[in-house]
Order: sequence, then C-alpha cells, then structure tokens
Amino acid sequence: MSHPEARLKKKQPESKQSSSGRLFILSAPSGAGKTTLCQEILKSFPAIRYSISHTTRMPRLGEKDGVDYYFITEEEFINGIQEGSWAEWAKVHDNYYGTSSRFLDNILISGSDVLLDIDVQGTIKIIKQYPDAITIFIMPPSLEKLNQRLRLRGTDSDEVIEKRLQNAKKEIDRKNLYRHIVVNDRLEKAKQELFQIIHQYQTS
Ligand code: 5GP
Repeated sequence: MSHPEARLKKKQPESKQSSSGRLFILSAPSGAGKTTLCQEILKSFPAIRYSISHTTRMPRLGEKDGVDYYFITEEEFINGIQEGSWAEWAKVHDNYYGTSSRFLDNILISGSDVLLDIDVQGTIKIIKQYPDAITIFIMPPSLEKLNQRLRLRGTDSDEVIEKRLQNAKKEIDRKNLYRHIVVNDRLEKAKQELFQIIHQYQTS
C-alpha cells in the first residue's frame, strides 16, 4: 500500500470504550449538504480533528489528495482489508471507502475529538467498536430537493445521480440508528442545531 496510514497491520478489537477523545459521526445521503456542514464544524470547533477517509473513487474537480480523501487504488484498498488497516470500510456507489484504524486509535488515545464523515454501513461497524460514538444523521428536506441539489452540483452523470438517489432512500430508512437527526432545509438553521449537539457533548 502506498499510504502510510493504510500500511499498518492491525487486528480490530471488539470494543474501544476506554478511549478518551469523543467520536462524532456525521452521515447523510449524497447532496444533503454534509460536506459543507463538516467544514463549518471544523472551522468552529478547531480542536476536533477530521478523519480523512481512503477511497478508490476518482477525485472530483478541486479535490486534493490528503485533504479531501486519500485517493488509492483498488488493489491498495483490498490489501488494506486483508491487513486489517480499516476501522470500518464500505463499498458505496461502486467505490471503496475506509477509515484508517491507526489514525482513529491514535487520535482518540491522545484525547482529541474526531469527526468521521461516513455512510450508514460504516457507522454500524464503528458503533460496534465504539459504542459511545455520537452519531448524527443529516436529512435532506425531501428526495425531490436532494435530486435538485445533485443535478445543480453538476459533478455527476445522470446514472450516478440515480444511483445516489436510490442509496439515499435506503440510508434515510435507517436514520433511526442515529442518536441525532438534523434536517438540512436551511443551512444556517441546520448548522446551529449541529453546533448545539456538539457543544452539549463537549461541555458534559
Ligand atoms: P462522496 O463520494 O460523495 O465523497 O461520498 C460518498 C459516500 O461515502 C458518503 O455518504 C460518505 O459519507 C461516504 N464515505 C466517505 N468516506 C467514508 C469512509 O471512510 N467509510 C464509509 N463507510 N463511508 C465513507
């Protein structure tokens, strides 16, 4: 594997409740505004570290390796699975995505809080290992609005948008797995709700 985060061989322990940092997980269907909300969180809570995922997806225009994602090959990703490098991984819209186990453990042990932007499948796997994880689901106001947003974004083909919408329906069906649900009908309102949730855990 080319990336050092993904190279470490590691077995996945059952539960990691004793970790001292807080683990926040943000999930949302593609186009629900999660990337913007993540950026707002990181700007307003500078002590929270962001877990940069590894993916086999091609970078979109403007995305940078090591900032938005670590872009790796399918072979590297599969090696990572065999080596136990991922705290969780999932195949989303035909691409692999994974969270580095080593990064997550080091951050939490150091006492820092960490933010994960992962899908529902990944969240389920993380909750098993980190039952104290603070899970937040961002809801689009409606599927119609989501469709409009994905088309306005202009980054994906019709086929990819259709796949993302199908996936969105499945994800929304599982929203009750999350401790908190925030509807992003207006960005400013959703942002304030999110900040309140995070603040509540940081001061408890
Ligand atoms: P996108 O390709 O639009 O950046 O992300 C597609 C989906 O993959 C999003 O729902 C995003 O949250 C999810 N995702 C990104 N990184 C990870 C990861 O490391 N693990 C999992 N399970 N999902 C991820």
